[in-house]
Amino acid sequence: MAQLALVTGSTSGIGLGIARALAEAGYRLVLNGFGEPDQIDAALDEIGQLGSPSPLYLGTDLTDASAIELALREVIHSEGPISVLVNNAGMQFTASIEDFPVDKWDQIIALNLSAAFHTTRLCLPAMRNQNYGRIINIASVHGLVASVNKSAYVAAKHGLVGFTKATALETAKSNITCNAICPGWTHTPLIQTQIEQRANDMGVSIEEGGRALLTEKQPSEQFVTTDQLGALTRFLCTDAASQITGAQLPVDGGWTAQ
Ligand code: NAD
Repeated sequence: MAQLALVTGSTSGIGLGIARALAEAGYRLVLNGFGEPDQIDAALDEIGQLGSPSPLYLGTDLTDASAIELALREVIHSEGPISVLVNNAGMQFTASIEDFPVDKWDQIIALNLSAAFHTTRLCLPAMRNQNYGRIINIASVHGLVASVNKSAYVAAKHGLVGFTKATALETAKSNITCNAICPGWTHTPLIQTQIEQRANDMGVSIEEGGRALLTEKQPSEQFVTTDQLGALTRFLCTDAASQITGAQLPVDGGWTAQ
């Protein structure tokens, strides 16, 4: 029977790219995230066609700890252990610390950090029972370095990198690994507002706004692709990667080498 892989925030962007890569490897995907019913149906169809047997969908809001608990207990009870857990759902909001809305801070910490604690604590017992598990946390370059006006995001992503190390140590003697992938700029809806804002500030086209963001931080001056992040995630699920645990893997065109 195909192993279950839950990718949070997989109705869009990086999560969808990772779900595609895991579907091609034959995992049975559990998609999660928001979106119009048509968009979610299309994602489920695509994932099925790529190789995932009967993909599932959870519409759970991951800022709600009790909703996560209910949904994961149900899935594990009815479908079996989640073998691969990709904590990817995340959001961004930019403002200076003095102007940062308190509700946005709470929301970012809940989604980008606490949700990974809840999914991990709920998936681990069944992973331990079957002595196999792969936990991949999609952190960010902002889990390693900071940028201005992103205090909540930077705090959450540094927290997620720390939580990755703690999980790796607590599972080190089993065939369970936990790693953080730290992408640089990846062209998805999450960064669209920042691209538009930059284009607006500079009075240039959206395309030039995107290029300006790249030039400032990412030495390769190319966006990371969701396919590249999917391929790395798939590799981390193989036996070849069984001794990689507690790592922070930058995929950032050289951003954090500076
Ligand atoms: P995206 O906006 O395209 O996708 C975010 C996903 O999370 C969507 O499926 C959305 O529906 C889901 N989501 C949002 N709020 C949710 C909630 N409350 N509950 C459940 N699901 C929710 O963004 P993306 O760029 O693909 O980002 C994915 C991850 O990658 C995030 O954690 C982000 O921080 C990280 N990341 C992105 C970049 C980048 O440049 N795009 C760089 C580094 C790290």
